[in-house]
Amino acid sequence: MNRREFVSAALSAALFAHGGRLAGQAARYDLVIKGGRVIDPSLRLDAIRDVGIAAGRIAAVETSIDAGTAATLDARGKLVVPGLIDIHTHAARSAEGPPLCLRDGVTAFIDAGSAGADDVDSVVAIAKAAPQIGRVLVNVGRGGILPGGDTKDLALADVGAARAAIERHRDYVVGLKARLSETVVGKNDVEVLRRTQQVAEPFGLPVMIHMGQSPSSLRDLLPMLKTGDIVTHMFAPPPNAIVDDSGRLLPEVLAARRRGIVFDVGNGVRDHIRWDIVEQVMRQGFWPDTFSTDWNVMSSTTGVVDFPNCMSKLFGYGMSVPEAIACATVNAARTFEAFRDRGTLNVGAPADVAVLELREGDFTFLDNYENTIKGRQRLFPSETVLAGARVPRAAA
Ligand SMILES: [Zn+2]
Repeated sequence: MNRREFVSAALSAALFAHGGRLAGQAARYDLVIKGGRVIDPSLRLDAIRDVGIAAGRIAAVETSIDAGTAATLDARGKLVVPGLIDIHTHAARSAEGPPLCLRDGVTAFIDAGSAGADDVDSVVAIAKAAPQIGRVLVNVGRGGILPGGDTKDLALADVGAARAAIERHRDYVVGLKARLSETVVGKNDVEVLRRTQQVAEPFGLPVMIHMGQSPSSLRDLLPMLKTGDIVTHMFAPPPNAIVDDSGRLLPEVLAARRRGIVFDVGNGVRDHIRWDIVEQVMRQGFWPDTFSTDWNVMSSTTGVVDFPNCMSKLFGYGMSVPEAIACATVNAARTFEAFRDRGTLNVGAPADVAVLELREGDFTFLDNYENTIKGRQRLFPSETVLAGARVPRAAA
């Protein structure tokens, strides 16, 4: 192409790009989210913007969009953020889970080890039927979460069975889960983790470990993790916290982060988060990469409440609203390949959007030990847009 042809091609491309605006907006968008504070850490954006959606994708993020005949969602006074990604839930234990957490703004979830090889088919079936994207970590214990302990009987950490389960569901299983509390593994944590990595290795999949009350120190367990693996329940108290008895971060923890191991909150209800540990860890600047709830269908009645509530818990420890949103969107999207095009409002991305309210007031947040802290700000779910469509609100 000569220079003249090049200029002409560039000009028509520019006209094409701006043609909709020049010619009027009619039928250009299906939905326009108007006037919200758009916070998208993937774009370093925090400003009042309109978001135009067409054919299930983000079509424009601009200071003012003429909606024409498109449907509108009035987001004035609210936050408009990429759909939230919760990387540690038990949402696929039952069919009502995924639509329930969708109302909280969770447009992508991981079911983290609800099931092992023996019953993963039903969990995968629920993830497949979910309205939003859902993926599954297989519990290395073939019986899944067992009251007597997933892998106290080492025969339950069955490498062959776990590999066969992954083979059956290559499109939905995105990793392994190993719960390493003494009540779950007995004294077998090192061997269970070794076998979990053995399962994951031929597939190149990440492993998520559940830490805290393991019989072995993290000094021994963390070196067994590879880049991209995930440590959940990072604020769990001793015996095997990420800090030592004097409250200082273990050198192995810092080394693990340098190697690209992800540290995740995993709020839950028992043994996973205690405010004095949060204080020690946050003060040393070791902030979580991702939040997660450890959610299940009962969470609205516990200290979890919902994902936006869990996101609000670190505001009092110095985390800003945009930083919290980064943990719940772009950071989480990078953790699993299946979510690589999520966690962003970039033009062309799937139009999964959470509209949140940031309320000021006196709020109380619970850890897992019935300790409370007070906060002045809390995020509340308001609206969810999934693949460009508004999710109906629950009847009050
Ligand atoms: Zn869990």
